[in-house]
Amino acid sequence: EGAIFLVPTPIGNLEDITYRALNTLKTANVIAAEDTRNTKKLLNYFEINTPLTSYHEHSNLGKIEDLIRQAEEGAKIAVVSDAGMPAISDPGSGLVEEALKRNVKVIVLPGANAALAALVGSGMSTNEFYFYGFLPRKKKEKIEALTDLKKISATLLFYESPFRVKDTLENIRDTLGNRKVALARELTKRFEEYIRGTVDDLLAWVKTNELKGEFVIVVEGAEAGAEDAEDNWWSNLGVKEHVDH
Ligand code: SAM
Repeated sequence: EGAIFLVPTPIGNLEDITYRALNTLKTANVIAAEDTRNTKKLLNYFEINTPLTSYHEHSNLGKIEDLIRQAEEGAKIAVVSDAGMPAISDPGSGLVEEALKRNVKVIVLPGANAALAALVGSGMSTNEFYFYGFLPRKKKEKIEALTDLKKISATLLFYESPFRVKDTLENIRDTLGNRKVALARELTKRFEEYIRGTVDDLLAWVKTNELKGEFVIVVEGAEAGAEDAEDNWWSNLGVKEHVDH
């Protein structure tokens, strides 16, 4: 029986590939990769010769159709992105959606993912978390997106390019306030580090340190009740609601 396998790849450290991921990549009929050149390097390292085809965010429906048809005919299709879990801020979800519509089996292998590693290492509450991924690039939309998150008490997780981390921290301070944050940098790699503090602490840190590498921004959730007081400003004025009869 054919199937679509979503196969996570390392986010830096090659030892994070799983045995099952390697076996799946080896035995698949074809590997659909976000960037075939990038995946080729990974396959060479592990001496895997499975044929590659490209599947990325700009792939048209024809490409999805083609992969699904192959699976319907019995092929094992492995889907990989450049790093980490496919379909998480990466291509993959369109293919899963279509496969399920067509009753093609979808099998997801667990593995490396930057957001979850950052969350656990941040030291913030893991009870509830809200993965946002990449914020919009345009300032107005970014501010709006952040403002929409203001009342969420879950820990917030963002992916961000090193070129925008500083601006994003400023935007976070202006919309969400001077909350606790952690920058998780270069996870699983040689210069892995967590920079923890309030947003202002981190903005001070940014002044004297270069922002290089890959980052996850982890932000403490809203304090329970904090927003209610602000929204119901009238409730503290001792003004009784006037009802006209
Ligand atoms: N699918 C991936 C995953 O499962 O984590 C995420 C892909 S997304 C296009 C890339 C973003 O993930 C980067 O801009 C960065 O925010 C984050 N990221 C990926 N690898 C990372 C690492 N080693 N350390 C910190 N952040 C990382």
